[in-house]
Amino acid sequence: MPSPSRNPYFEVRRSTIQGRGAFARRKIRKGTRIIEYTGERVSHEEADRRYDDEHMKRHHTFLFTLDRKTCIDAAVNGNDARFINHSCDPNCEAVIDGAHIYIEALRTIQPGEELVYDYQYEREDDAGDDDEKLYPCRCGSPKCRGTILAPRSRKKNRAPRPAARSA
Ligand SMILES: [Zn+2]
Repeated sequence: MPSPSRNPYFEVRRSTIQGRGAFARRKIRKGTRIIEYTGERVSHEEADRRYDDEHMKRHHTFLFTLDRKTCIDAAVNGNDARFINHSCDPNCEAVIDGAHIYIEALRTIQPGEELVYDYQYEREDDAGDDDEKLYPCRCGSPKCRGTILAPRSRKKNRAPRPAARSA
């Protein structure tokens, strides 16, 4: 029996993007639900208490915004989904379904490809260049926007989306 922590679709190893990453161990068809993003469910207030951006040199948490009330902190009881890196040109997307977050394939992914999705951290209305530097992106894509923050044009509060999470 394979160990329960071993995901059938990917393996975790060093990434050129950052730290460790998730790499397809087989062909993954478009639309495949690859893994649930798991961790402890905490309030936004508790998440802010745990991770104080203002006093961190470099942003480094495993938080994912589920909705207005709740974040998932993958630093506590998280699975290998937390190793999936950000890219501005992703092959996966995060889908919220029934108060759960799943990572799904945006397109067919070939064996060996690194799995990536666009974190689109929520951008405060007054976010400026300093904030972008706190959340730098080095995904290496020609489409790279230089930051993990959501694009400036995006409206706030359209839908729950990843916030304050990094690999
Ligand atoms: Zn990028």
